[in-house]
Amino acid sequence: MSRTFDSSPHMKFAQTIGSIHTKDALRSLVDEDNMPHALLLSGAEGNSKLALALAYTTYLMCENRADGASCGSCRSCIKMEKYIHPDVHFSFPFTGAKSVADEFIKPWRKFIQEKPYAGISDWMEYLDAPTKQPNINTKECKAIIQKLNMQSFESTNKVLIMWLPEYLRKEGNRLLKIIEEPTPNTYFILITEKISNILPTIISRCQLVKVPPLQDKEIKEALMGQYRFDASKAQNAAFVAEGNMQKALDIVQIGGKGLHDEVLVWFRTCYSQKTIDLVNWVDNFDRKSKDEQKSFLMYALNFFREIARVPVLPEKALRIEESEIQTAKKIAGIINFEKIEKLNNILTDTIYYIERNANIKVLMMDTNIAFKNILRQK
Ligand SMILES: [Zn+2]
Repeated sequence: MSRTFDSSPHMKFAQTIGSIHTKDALRSLVDEDNMPHALLLSGAEGNSKLALALAYTTYLMCENRADGASCGSCRSCIKMEKYIHPDVHFSFPFTGAKSVADEFIKPWRKFIQEKPYAGISDWMEYLDAPTKQPNINTKECKAIIQKLNMQSFESTNKVLIMWLPEYLRKEGNRLLKIIEEPTPNTYFILITEKISNILPTIISRCQLVKVPPLQDKEIKEALMGQYRFDASKAQNAAFVAEGNMQKALDIVQIGGKGLHDEVLVWFRTCYSQKTIDLVNWVDNFDRKSKDEQKSFLMYALNFFREIARVPVLPEKALRIEESEIQTAKKIAGIINFEKIEKLNNILTDTIYYIERNANIKVLMMDTNIAFKNILRQK
């Protein structure tokens, strides 16, 4: 299923979802000519940090910025729209000890145009290498140093955007010097989801900006505005996505209402203990795309988490649609909190294994049997 919407809708601040305060802070760094040589944007997967880094770079490189916005039509903006500006370099995790990021630059440009809110597993899937271990290797570090020591081509400024520097691991040491004493008008923008995995010596050389998770409201508005989904679909996906815009996009395209019914069918199938039904269910599940499988399980995961909250929260506070509350109450009547905890763990593991290309039939048969055992436990 295609997940491309407007092409490159995220290059400008105005098109970046939510995070208004971060946006203003980044904009004023440029307006006040106060850009740090190394900027570290830190925040959870699925938030706006990569989109913000792209908007910030577009703004910084624009030749005619006005009223807090890049112009969209200068030589620089036109190149930034396709991420082909010769003075804007990208580094990111990839597979292979002997490769460099530039070998993956074409799919990377497409990826950030289509999925600027995605995470590492989406990127590895995009590269058709979901089971491989990504990293940013020695050769890439050397290539970065070489690139940044060269004269810029068209602009006064040079920028290196590094997505997920946590994948540098110890190799980060190689970049310390250039981050600390960069060539003039050179700017590093690092975008991390796991700051604890970055060398403290790198962190201390950067200006840290924490990018908050997206709020449900921000995701809902973006799904309705930029992506043109209707209000109820957008609302449901925003609830389930827990601040992760890419997850919301994955869910909204499958459709919440249909998923709700499907989850109940699954629940009944597991509860009924009829092996033939279980086998048929697994066969059907196997025919879905990987995105659909993940969305289904994420939806189920959220649904069961909400069921755990039914006995303790007023209806209004539940993150599920009104039409689903009655079912949730019924299910809450037959399973207790402890069972829901176990179901949650199984679902989380199952999603993990699907992302790593497990055999779906074997995996889901195991999941269903474990599920059945929990439901039937006294
Ligand atoms: Zn411009």
